[in-house]
Amino acid sequence: MNPKELVEIYGVEPKKSLGQNFLHDPNALDKIVATADITPEDAVLEVGPGTGALTTRLAQVAKRLVTVEVDDRLAPILESQLAPYSHIEIIWQDILQVDVAALFAPGPYVVVANLPYYITSAILRHLLESRHRPRRLVLMVQTEVAERIVAKPDEMSILAVSVQYYGKPRIATRLKPAAFWPRPDVDSAVLTIDTFAQPPVNVADERLFFQVVRAGFGQKRKQLKNALGSNLHLDSEQTASIFELAGLDGRRRAETLTLAEWAALTTACSQLN
Ligand code: SAM
Repeated sequence: MNPKELVEIYGVEPKKSLGQNFLHDPNALDKIVATADITPEDAVLEVGPGTGALTTRLAQVAKRLVTVEVDDRLAPILESQLAPYSHIEIIWQDILQVDVAALFAPGPYVVVANLPYYITSAILRHLLESRHRPRRLVLMVQTEVAERIVAKPDEMSILAVSVQYYGKPRIATRLKPAAFWPRPDVDSAVLTIDTFAQPPVNVADERLFFQVVRAGFGQKRKQLKNALGSNLHLDSEQTASIFELAGLDGRRRAETLTLAEWAALTTACSQLN
């Protein structure tokens, strides 16, 4: 039964505020599961199972499946759809309040989700900054967000740097609003992120790295030396020495830097004084 029929039978009105655009295109659902490439060792976390269209497919390939859904109005639907499967745990909670590391450590796990778009960045941060990260994430996101995440130098953003620090993102496929019900206002893309065992750049102080990145992007389209100077409260001499130590031209803009260049700036900042 498709999501529209299910919510009509159970009398549940989809909530726009919870990003409830249910995916009903069977090819897209199959493609997401195939892209996840779940091995017998992997546990699976699904964020936002909704009416269970993706969940029932995942249940057929995952040895352990944990789903986290915030809207308990969907309980009668989800529980009826998942009744044939005994190995699925449903947690009725906001994913941002769930300690995913505690659920899955020390084993490998994959996250699969048709994300609620209103909290895409917060969910990405929550999962990627977890002390036990998933080995792969397969996420339906807004196309524009997927493109920002896979960007290369010249078009980098805080989001691109943050994701690419933890893993390699790739766009697996793109979908039109007609694949969902109700139709979202935006195009969608399935993004995969294969996380790294070790960060791709050498950063002694991760907190300082992200502080420098945030400071650099803090003033859009400003030259980096001005953005870093004002956001990190440095005088012009300190700013000049950071760029000299890092071997970078302070007139560059944040969007143009590679991760290695952000790491060099971080090292230079840590050597100040
Ligand atoms: N997986 C279903 C599908 O593909 O049709 C539903 C996807 S729908 C885009 C997003 C789902 O995330 C909804 O079921 C919504 O209730 C749920 N959701 C929204 N905010 C959430 C949160 N903070 N934590 C967990 N689930 C959330």
